[in-house]
Amino acid sequence: MTSRPRLVLLGKQGAGKGTQAVRLAAHYRIAHLSTGDMFRAQAQQGTAFGLEAKRYMDAGELVPDEIVIGVIEECLAPGGPLSAGFVLDGFPRTRAQAEELERVLDGKPIDVVLHLDVPREVVVERLSQRRVCVQNSAHIYSVSEPPRTEWICDICGGEVTQREDDTPEAINKRLDSYERDTRPIREFYGSSGRPLVTVDGMGSSDDVFDRCRDAIDAAL
Ligand code: AMP
Repeated sequence: MTSRPRLVLLGKQGAGKGTQAVRLAAHYRIAHLSTGDMFRAQAQQGTAFGLEAKRYMDAGELVPDEIVIGVIEECLAPGGPLSAGFVLDGFPRTRAQAEELERVLDGKPIDVVLHLDVPREVVVERLSQRRVCVQNSAHIYSVSEPPRTEWICDICGGEVTQREDDTPEAINKRLDSYERDTRPIREFYGSSGRPLVTVDGMGSSDDVFDRCRDAIDAAL
Protein backbone atom coordinates (compact mmCIF):
# COMPACT_ATOMS: atom_id res chain seq x y z
CA MET A 1 0.00 0.00 0.00
CA THR A 2 1.12 3.58 -0.71
CA SER A 3 1.59 4.91 2.82
CA ARG A 4 0.92 8.56 1.90
CA PRO A 5 -1.73 8.48 -0.81
CA ARG A 6 -2.53 11.32 -3.20
CA LEU A 7 -6.28 11.72 -3.24
CA VAL A 8 -8.82 13.90 -5.00
CA LEU A 9 -12.35 14.29 -3.59
CA LEU A 10 -15.05 15.12 -6.11
CA GLY A 11 -18.72 15.79 -5.40
CA LYS A 12 -21.36 18.45 -5.31
CA GLN A 13 -21.16 21.30 -2.86
CA GLY A 14 -22.58 19.91 0.38
CA ALA A 15 -21.73 16.29 -0.48
CA GLY A 16 -19.46 16.14 2.58
CA LYS A 17 -16.06 16.65 0.92
CA GLY A 18 -14.83 19.02 3.64
CA THR A 19 -15.88 16.74 6.50
CA GLN A 20 -14.42 13.60 4.90
CA ALA A 21 -11.23 15.34 3.75
CA VAL A 22 -10.40 16.30 7.34
CA ARG A 23 -10.95 12.71 8.49
CA LEU A 24 -9.01 11.17 5.59
CA ALA A 25 -6.11 13.57 6.15
CA ALA A 26 -5.90 12.49 9.81
CA HIS A 27 -6.26 8.78 8.98
CA TYR A 28 -3.60 8.66 6.24
CA ARG A 29 -1.42 11.42 7.79
CA ILE A 30 -1.58 13.51 4.66
CA ALA A 31 -2.11 17.21 3.99
CA HIS A 32 -5.63 18.53 3.38
CA LEU A 33 -5.98 21.27 0.81
CA SER A 34 -9.33 22.97 0.34
CA THR A 35 -9.13 25.79 -2.18
CA GLY A 36 -12.40 27.21 -0.79
CA ASP A 37 -11.00 27.29 2.81
CA MET A 38 -7.82 28.84 1.48
CA PHE A 39 -9.71 31.59 -0.40
CA ARG A 40 -11.95 32.32 2.60
CA ALA A 41 -8.92 32.61 4.91
CA GLN A 42 -7.28 35.05 2.48
CA ALA A 43 -10.51 37.04 2.19
CA GLN A 44 -10.78 37.24 5.96
CA GLN A 45 -7.22 38.53 6.18
CA GLY A 46 -8.17 41.14 3.58
CA THR A 47 -5.35 40.35 1.13
CA ALA A 48 -5.77 41.65 -2.44
CA PHE A 49 -5.95 38.09 -3.71
CA GLY A 50 -8.53 37.10 -1.06
CA LEU A 51 -10.75 40.11 -1.79
CA GLU A 52 -10.67 39.34 -5.50
CA ALA A 53 -11.58 35.69 -4.88
CA LYS A 54 -14.38 36.77 -2.52
CA ARG A 55 -16.17 38.67 -5.31
CA TYR A 56 -16.54 35.43 -7.26
CA MET A 57 -17.33 33.31 -4.22
CA ASP A 58 -20.10 35.57 -2.93
CA ALA A 59 -21.68 35.55 -6.38
CA GLY A 60 -21.61 31.74 -6.45
CA GLU A 61 -19.18 31.78 -9.40
CA LEU A 62 -15.92 29.93 -9.88
CA VAL A 63 -12.69 31.82 -9.30
CA PRO A 64 -10.96 31.99 -12.73
CA ASP A 65 -8.72 29.03 -13.56
CA GLU A 66 -5.52 31.04 -13.91
CA ILE A 67 -5.82 32.37 -10.34
CA VAL A 68 -6.60 28.95 -8.84
CA ILE A 69 -3.91 27.15 -10.80
CA GLY A 70 -1.26 29.66 -9.69
CA VAL A 71 -2.06 28.96 -6.04
CA ILE A 72 -2.08 25.19 -6.45
CA GLU A 73 1.18 25.14 -8.36
CA GLU A 74 2.97 26.67 -5.37
CA CYS A 75 1.50 24.10 -2.98
CA LEU A 76 2.31 21.08 -5.15
CA ALA A 77 5.83 22.14 -6.09
CA PRO A 78 8.57 19.69 -5.02
CA GLY A 79 9.39 20.37 -1.36
CA GLY A 80 6.12 22.36 -1.00
CA PRO A 81 3.49 21.66 1.66
CA LEU A 82 1.80 18.95 -0.41
CA SER A 83 4.85 17.20 -1.79
CA ALA A 84 4.15 14.08 0.36
CA GLY A 85 0.57 12.77 0.36
CA PHE A 86 -2.51 14.95 0.13
CA VAL A 87 -6.25 15.07 -0.20
CA LEU A 88 -7.53 17.78 -2.53
CA ASP A 89 -10.98 19.10 -1.65
CA GLY A 90 -12.64 21.47 -4.11
CA PHE A 91 -9.83 21.21 -6.66
CA PRO A 92 -9.87 20.45 -9.55
CA ARG A 93 -13.22 21.98 -10.41
CA THR A 94 -12.83 22.35 -14.16
CA ARG A 95 -11.29 20.19 -16.83
CA ALA A 96 -8.54 22.80 -17.34
CA GLN A 97 -7.67 22.51 -13.64
CA ALA A 98 -7.63 18.70 -13.84
CA GLU A 99 -5.26 18.82 -16.82
CA GLU A 100 -3.06 21.35 -15.05
CA LEU A 101 -2.95 19.14 -11.96
CA GLU A 102 -1.64 16.23 -14.04
CA ARG A 103 1.02 18.51 -15.49
CA VAL A 104 2.11 19.86 -12.09
CA LEU A 105 2.29 16.34 -10.61
CA ASP A 106 4.69 15.47 -13.40
CA GLY A 107 4.72 11.69 -13.47
CA LYS A 108 3.56 11.09 -9.86
CA PRO A 109 -0.17 10.88 -10.52
CA ILE A 110 -3.17 10.85 -8.23
CA ASP A 111 -3.69 7.46 -6.55
CA VAL A 112 -7.46 7.59 -6.10
CA VAL A 113 -10.19 9.98 -7.23
CA LEU A 114 -13.19 9.58 -4.90
CA HIS A 115 -16.57 10.80 -6.02
CA LEU A 116 -18.96 11.38 -3.09
CA ASP A 117 -22.41 10.82 -4.51
CA VAL A 118 -25.36 12.69 -2.94
CA PRO A 119 -28.58 13.73 -4.73
CA ARG A 120 -29.09 17.42 -5.47
CA GLU A 121 -32.19 17.81 -3.27
CA VAL A 122 -30.24 16.44 -0.29
CA VAL A 123 -27.28 18.81 -0.74
CA VAL A 124 -29.61 21.81 -1.14
CA GLU A 125 -31.09 20.94 2.26
CA ARG A 126 -27.64 20.33 3.82
CA LEU A 127 -26.21 23.60 2.47
CA SER A 128 -29.10 25.68 3.76
CA GLN A 129 -28.60 24.10 7.22
CA ARG A 130 -24.77 24.36 7.17
CA ARG A 131 -22.96 26.67 9.58
CA VAL A 132 -19.17 27.15 9.67
CA CYS A 133 -16.61 28.75 11.97
CA VAL A 134 -15.57 32.20 10.74
CA GLN A 135 -11.99 31.56 11.90
CA ASN A 136 -11.65 28.24 10.11
CA SER A 137 -14.29 27.18 7.61
CA ALA A 138 -13.11 23.55 7.85
CA HIS A 139 -14.87 23.49 11.26
CA ILE A 140 -18.32 22.57 10.00
CA TYR A 141 -21.65 22.38 11.88
CA SER A 142 -25.32 22.47 10.98
CA VAL A 143 -28.58 23.68 12.45
CA SER A 144 -29.30 20.06 13.45
CA GLU A 145 -25.73 19.43 14.75
CA PRO A 146 -24.74 22.75 16.34
CA PRO A 147 -21.63 23.35 18.46
CA ARG A 148 -21.93 22.54 22.20
CA THR A 149 -22.10 26.21 23.22
CA GLU A 150 -24.49 28.23 21.11
CA TRP A 151 -22.74 29.20 17.89
CA ILE A 152 -19.23 29.15 19.35
CA CYS A 153 -16.85 26.72 17.61
CA ASP A 154 -16.04 23.66 19.77
CA ILE A 155 -12.56 23.46 18.26
CA CYS A 156 -11.24 27.03 18.24
CA GLY A 157 -13.81 29.27 19.93
CA GLY A 158 -14.58 31.23 16.75
CA GLU A 159 -18.06 32.46 15.90
CA VAL A 160 -20.12 29.91 13.97
CA THR A 161 -22.30 31.39 11.25
CA GLN A 162 -23.74 30.82 7.77
CA ARG A 163 -21.40 31.09 4.79
CA GLU A 164 -22.18 34.07 2.56
CA ASP A 165 -22.54 31.77 -0.44
CA ASP A 166 -24.96 29.41 1.32
CA THR A 167 -27.96 31.56 0.32
CA PRO A 168 -30.66 29.85 -1.82
CA GLU A 169 -29.69 31.87 -4.91
CA ALA A 170 -25.93 31.20 -4.65
CA ILE A 171 -26.53 27.53 -3.77
CA ASN A 172 -28.49 26.97 -6.99
CA LYS A 173 -25.91 28.85 -9.05
CA ARG A 174 -23.05 26.80 -7.55
CA LEU A 175 -24.87 23.52 -8.16
CA ASP A 176 -25.51 24.53 -11.79
CA SER A 177 -21.79 25.29 -12.09
CA TYR A 178 -21.02 21.83 -10.68
CA GLU A 179 -23.15 20.18 -13.38
CA ARG A 180 -21.66 22.30 -16.16
CA ASP A 181 -18.00 22.68 -15.16
CA THR A 182 -17.13 19.98 -12.62
CA ARG A 183 -19.14 16.90 -13.56
CA PRO A 184 -17.14 16.45 -16.82
CA ILE A 185 -13.99 15.91 -14.72
CA ARG A 186 -15.36 12.50 -13.76
CA GLU A 187 -15.21 11.45 -17.39
CA PHE A 188 -11.71 12.93 -17.66
CA TYR A 189 -10.46 10.76 -14.78
CA GLY A 190 -12.49 7.75 -15.85
CA SER A 191 -10.92 7.84 -19.30
CA SER A 192 -7.38 8.62 -18.18
CA GLY A 193 -6.97 5.37 -16.24
CA ARG A 194 -7.01 6.96 -12.76
CA PRO A 195 -8.89 4.88 -10.19
CA LEU A 196 -12.19 6.76 -10.03
CA VAL A 197 -14.43 5.36 -7.30
CA THR A 198 -17.97 6.50 -6.56
CA VAL A 199 -18.90 6.30 -2.88
CA ASP A 200 -22.42 6.67 -1.52
CA GLY A 201 -22.31 9.94 0.44
CA MET A 202 -25.62 9.40 2.25
CA GLY A 203 -25.77 8.48 5.93
CA SER A 204 -23.70 9.39 8.97
CA SER A 205 -20.24 10.90 8.71
CA ASP A 206 -18.83 7.69 10.27
CA ASP A 207 -20.55 5.47 7.69
CA VAL A 208 -19.37 7.60 4.79
CA PHE A 209 -15.83 7.69 6.19
CA ASP A 210 -15.76 3.87 6.47
CA ARG A 211 -16.87 3.60 2.82
CA CYS A 212 -14.24 6.11 1.69
CA ARG A 213 -11.42 4.38 3.59
CA ASP A 214 -12.44 0.93 2.32
CA ALA A 215 -12.62 2.22 -1.27
CA ILE A 216 -9.20 3.88 -1.01
CA ASP A 217 -7.53 0.87 0.63
CA ALA A 218 -8.99 -1.41 -2.05
CA ALA A 219 -7.71 0.84 -4.83
CA LEU A 220 -4.17 1.34 -3.47
P1 AMP B 1 -16.01 25.48 -1.52
O1 AMP B 1 -15.66 25.84 -0.13
O2 AMP B 1 -15.20 24.35 -2.06
O3 AMP B 1 -17.49 25.28 -1.70
O4 AMP B 1 -15.62 26.74 -2.44
C1 AMP B 1 -16.23 28.00 -2.22
C2 AMP B 1 -16.03 28.88 -3.44
O5 AMP B 1 -14.63 29.10 -3.66
C3 AMP B 1 -16.54 28.31 -4.76
O6 AMP B 1 -17.94 28.53 -4.93
C4 AMP B 1 -15.71 29.12 -5.75
O7 AMP B 1 -16.16 30.45 -5.87
C5 AMP B 1 -14.34 29.17 -5.03
N1 AMP B 1 -13.50 28.00 -5.38
C6 AMP B 1 -13.04 27.04 -4.55
N2 AMP B 1 -12.28 26.15 -5.20
C7 AMP B 1 -12.26 26.55 -6.49
C8 AMP B 1 -11.67 26.03 -7.67
N3 AMP B 1 -10.93 24.91 -7.65
N4 AMP B 1 -11.88 26.70 -8.84
C9 AMP B 1 -12.61 27.83 -8.87
N5 AMP B 1 -13.22 28.36 -7.80
C10 AMP B 1 -13.05 27.74 -6.61
